[in-house]
Amino acid sequence: MEHPENDSQYTGLSVNEGTSDKPTVNPYLKNFSRFKRKSYTVSEYVEGILKSDVSLLGQAVTLIESSKPEHQAIAQEVIDKCLPYSGNSVRIGITGVPGAGKSTSIDAFGMHVLEEGKKLAVLAIDPSSEVSKGSILGDKTRMERLSVAENAFIRPSPSAGSLGGVARKTRETIILCEAAGFDRIFIETVGVGQSETAVHSMVDFFLLIQLAGTGDELQGIKRGIMEMADGIIINKADGNNIEKAKLAQSHFRNALHLFPLPESGWAPKVLTYSGYFEIGIKEVWDMIDEYIAFVRKNGYFEYRRNEQSKYWMYETINERLKSDFYNNPTISNELKFCEQDVLQSRMSSFAAAAKILNMYFDELKNSK
Ligand code: GDP
Repeated sequence: MEHPENDSQYTGLSVNEGTSDKPTVNPYLKNFSRFKRKSYTVSEYVEGILKSDVSLLGQAVTLIESSKPEHQAIAQEVIDKCLPYSGNSVRIGITGVPGAGKSTSIDAFGMHVLEEGKKLAVLAIDPSSEVSKGSILGDKTRMERLSVAENAFIRPSPSAGSLGGVARKTRETIILCEAAGFDRIFIETVGVGQSETAVHSMVDFFLLIQLAGTGDELQGIKRGIMEMADGIIINKADGNNIEKAKLAQSHFRNALHLFPLPESGWAPKVLTYSGYFEIGIKEVWDMIDEYIAFVRKNGYFEYRRNEQSKYWMYETINERLKSDFYNNPTISNELKFCEQDVLQSRMSSFAAAAKILNMYFDELKNSK
């Protein structure tokens, strides 16, 4: 291209021919070093966690979330070593549809918990986050006070993998947080799908946030979610919404009467509150404390935790078996053919499943 600056009439500086960039020895090194972090040994991680070092805790959680086998190996060792120091917390699941006010409420509840002199970890399970890039907890500014509070540790949902995988990682993160001295754990999830079951299987108290106002608030909620709740709280009971909230409260109370008493022996309560204006926060917390005292006394607290441990043992086995199966190269290759056979009606679904499972078991036998 002609540069006007090189015209003989032009009195300014002329443009010289450019030089090409110097070759780099390793073009990837620059990018790589940006991500490279100091790595620690298992005992350094464990010591750090036990000393409540949140930076090391955060990095250990990153290892839990990593899909790299070498990271997983370290993470599992760290978890094993932290396990004896875990369990000493109250774990609370918080769910509600988007817009119900989860983050506003968690900020308010969290500050209340901190004022009681507790340490709080807020985790999340959001199976959709792979697509939405972490719609819950992703944006820390949503919990303005908690995100800068000294005794709070906030961690968005692990994003990769199936719900089972995401939930397992969160459960493992709970162990590390407890070992680091966090004695209150909140686990947030979006109240729209399967994730509540996963959260329910790892908490001591399951809190359902609801909204009033439409008059048909009971219709949108799946019966299963209501049955799981140990407490239902109706948010935004402020301004001219108070009456509607009270009405919703009585609707929910009536609906709950139709359910059998849960295994815990605790009849779930329905309260109204305002997360934004911080009205009724203490009452919600008193309800949770009351529940915990109740189930500790009647033995359900221990029972539920033991049941959960059993559940997670089976979940982990199932997940491991599934991933071993689907990640097996012979199997994943053969599955494509089987899929076609089934689609073209050359084989029944059952015959195809049997064929491929047998292939897998044979390979296992032969590899011994
Ligand atoms: P999330 O999607 O469930 O996490 O909900 P957010 O906490 O982001 O809240 C959704 C919207 O409801 C925001 O605009 C909040 O300001 C508003 N909100 C949350 N809690 C209250 C409340 O107690 N009262 C009122 N009036 N608005 C609230």
